[in-house]
Amino acid sequence: METGKALAIVHRLAYCQLHPSINVVMDEKEQAEAMNTIEDLIVNHFEEENDLSKWKRIPDNMVVSIWKCRNHDKDVVRLPPTYYEENGTPICGKCGDDMEYSHTEMLS
Ligand SMILES: [Zn+2]
Repeated sequence: METGKALAIVHRLAYCQLHPSINVVMDEKEQAEAMNTIEDLIVNHFEEENDLSKWKRIPDNMVVSIWKCRNHDKDVVRLPPTYYEENGTPICGKCGDDMEYSHTEMLS
C-alpha cells in the first residue's frame, strides 16, 4: 500500500478514537484494515532501519550531541559524539545535576 493512503487510514482511525463523539464511524472491517496498515508501517520502518545499505558513515566532526539541564532549560551544551565515551554524562555547570540527552545535529 502506498504511504499516503496508509497514513490517511491511520489518521482516520486515530481521529475516530480521539473524537468518539463525532460521528466518523469505521466499521470493524475498516478498523481491522487500519490496524493491519499500522502493523505494516511499523514492520517497514524497522526493516528500513535494519537495512545496513541505507546507513552511511559520517565523520564525527559533522555531528554534535545536544544535552540539556532539566532544571535550567536554557542551558544547552553542544558536544562531540565521542564526549560520552570519554567523560560520561555531562553535568550542568549551574546545579551539578546530570544533563539529559536531547538530540543530535548534523552539519549541513
Ligand atoms: Zn542545571
